[in-house]
Amino acid sequence: MALVKVKDILKHATEHKYGVAAINTVNVETIKYAILAAEQEKVPLIVQFYPGFSDYMALKYISYTACDMARKVSVPIGVHLDHSNSFDIAVSGIRDGFPSVMVDGSSLPYDENVALTKAVAKVARVFDVDVEAELGHVGSGDNLDDIIDASRYTNVEQAVGFVEKTGCDALAVAVGNAHGPYVKTPNLDFQRIEELRAAVSVPLVLHGCSDIPREQIQEAVNLGMSKFNIATEYFRAMYRSFEDTIANHNLRDNGVGLLEATKEDMIAFVIDKIRLLNPNKFSL
Ligand SMILES: [Zn+2]
Repeated sequence: MALVKVKDILKHATEHKYGVAAINTVNVETIKYAILAAEQEKVPLIVQFYPGFSDYMALKYISYTACDMARKVSVPIGVHLDHSNSFDIAVSGIRDGFPSVMVDGSSLPYDENVALTKAVAKVARVFDVDVEAELGHVGSGDNLDDIIDASRYTNVEQAVGFVEKTGCDALAVAVGNAHGPYVKTPNLDFQRIEELRAAVSVPLVLHGCSDIPREQIQEAVNLGMSKFNIATEYFRAMYRSFEDTIANHNLRDNGVGLLEATKEDMIAFVIDKIRLLNPNKFSL
């Protein structure tokens, strides 16, 4: 098993109605702990990376580390490049070894989003790389309108045409979700999710899953959403673990010990998400 195509993981998840945690990572530790959590629970997981952090860690280091670690475990692990908002970034991800990339043209007018996604999908096909796209704009949790303004949500009819025209393998949708901490507790539009799931032919992706109430995440899984992106909460778990370790454990200036000490907390965080998304432990 080990390193598996994101497309195959999501196809299986969609068919069996379970959710896959897509955990954002930035370094060796964040990759390792997410994969160890999946290995302990024996369920599929996706490790992903936001290219906005590529000054901190180059794409090729992340893709190499994640793919290499994935090959060494028995559970199916997908490796994915998150939000690439230009042709160049998405194709850089393909060049640097990501087996799956997201091209995000959701801020563009519809036709331009179609054109950009189609262009990336064409290159991705050549390299057998999977493509996630976004329609309807998933905005920022600190902007109230991005959460509550339904006119920004994904239009069902447009989504059907978008997938057909672009040939994307998965679609990120806007249904009341947003990125980062939320200024107001989100209220997902379940009717929209149901309609999208019935109409769209590819797996559906929910971005901004941090701090969405657990019952809402469970309902989104029940209604057929497949990939659940988690960044903010995972990085918060890391931060709190550092804080706790420094306050309560005497590591005597041991920086390496500090990194190692976060292991248990971060694995526990990911396991909690995995159990919420895939309680029956489905796996390929
Ligand atoms: Zn996102």
